[in-house]
Amino acid sequence: PDHSDVAIFGERESEVRSYSRNWPEVFDTAKGVRITTESGEQYLDFFGGAGALNYGHNDDDMKAALLEHIERDGITHSLDKFTVAKRRFLQSFSDKILEPRGLDYKVMFPGPTGTNAVESALKLARKVTGREAILNFTNSFHGMTLGSLSVTGNSMKRAGAGIPLVHATPMPYDNYFGGITEDFQWMERVLEDSGSGINRPAAVIVECVQGEGGINAARAEWLKALSELCKRQDILLIIDDVQMGCGRTGEFFSFEFAGIKPDIVTLSKSIGGYGLPLAVTLFRKDLDVWAAGEHNGTFRGNNLAFATAAVAIEKYWSDDKLQNHTLENGKWLREFFGKLVEKHPEELELRGRGMAFGIAFLKRPELAEEALAECFNRKLLVETAGPNDEVIKFLAPLVITRDELEEGSKICAEVIDELLS
Ligand code: PMP
Repeated sequence: PDHSDVAIFGERESEVRSYSRNWPEVFDTAKGVRITTESGEQYLDFFGGAGALNYGHNDDDMKAALLEHIERDGITHSLDKFTVAKRRFLQSFSDKILEPRGLDYKVMFPGPTGTNAVESALKLARKVTGREAILNFTNSFHGMTLGSLSVTGNSMKRAGAGIPLVHATPMPYDNYFGGITEDFQWMERVLEDSGSGINRPAAVIVECVQGEGGINAARAEWLKALSELCKRQDILLIIDDVQMGCGRTGEFFSFEFAGIKPDIVTLSKSIGGYGLPLAVTLFRKDLDVWAAGEHNGTFRGNNLAFATAAVAIEKYWSDDKLQNHTLENGKWLREFFGKLVEKHPEELELRGRGMAFGIAFLKRPELAEEALAECFNRKLLVETAGPNDEVIKFLAPLVITRDELEEGSKICAEVIDELLS
């Protein structure tokens, strides 16, 4: 292709654009797990909007709810007024997600997107405790605004920002050194030692599976030990579920499998259901110390996203097969790519939980980018992640059929096998 149809992007759009560098096509329509270019080329989408498309592109039921909302001139912009669409969402979220799990959280709409949820969580923790510092983890990713960036481990992502605003102390994520007991003994000693130089933190922020960090999955025992440490040390536990929440790991929240109850939880990406921006911050009722208007934003609580989010919750709740489907598809991925790892044991490692899946290139990190480009040539969209972009990341829609999963996985496995052979 001569790519003259994408020239305007290179001429006009900032050099900060990234995904489009790998995918020099103009995309136009999408349905389910397929996305189609202006010229009619079809791609299988295993990138899944970086986790925003757990229900695929243009789900029919959500589309109907959206059209119905628009046709009756339902309010789109409401700031934080009470609206019918917001009530529907809150009611479903409360009845179908929070209450069955015994999670008695307050719900806050902190702004349009994931980073707004993280900012609100950090601010709330600081306000509640009167402390300033935050503990974060190696390879973490929490967003692009200055507060959430300050608690993001990836140095490339931080490069545009200079000196962080929030005092963050990175701790080793699970498997960084290896032993759970040793990690937490070390952390606790540093926290209790007045000579260690660490400021007593307001909160710990952590992802149960690090998405941008390379699909690193923390073990249940590690998360439990972290949660217990937080309780002993009177530090609030924030789980950032922006990417791994909404069913990605099998259960609705990524922390459920560990049997822990965080003090604060952030959600975005797939909570809107249809790829529309929506962010949610959940916190223990006794932490609701906000004064009215202390955290606001013009586009908090988008009513179009409430309309689709309510349908998404109904779908997740009524379709109890979705959870099993996710776990079974995740298992299938590990078996299928396990054979490739057996063939190249020195080179590859599988990562993740449920349908958060990664294939890490251990020795030649640069091959992941090559694999991504070759997958694109063969009509499959995948992303890379990890500190050196060495991990191929799958965040395929959870509603993907087994046939579609096999189709894309075969392409990716062939590409990797050819690169390593
Ligand atoms: N937290 C996590 C764990 C994320 O993966 C992301 C986005 N990749 C964010 C926060 C930021 O979300 P957003 O890009 O919507 O601001």
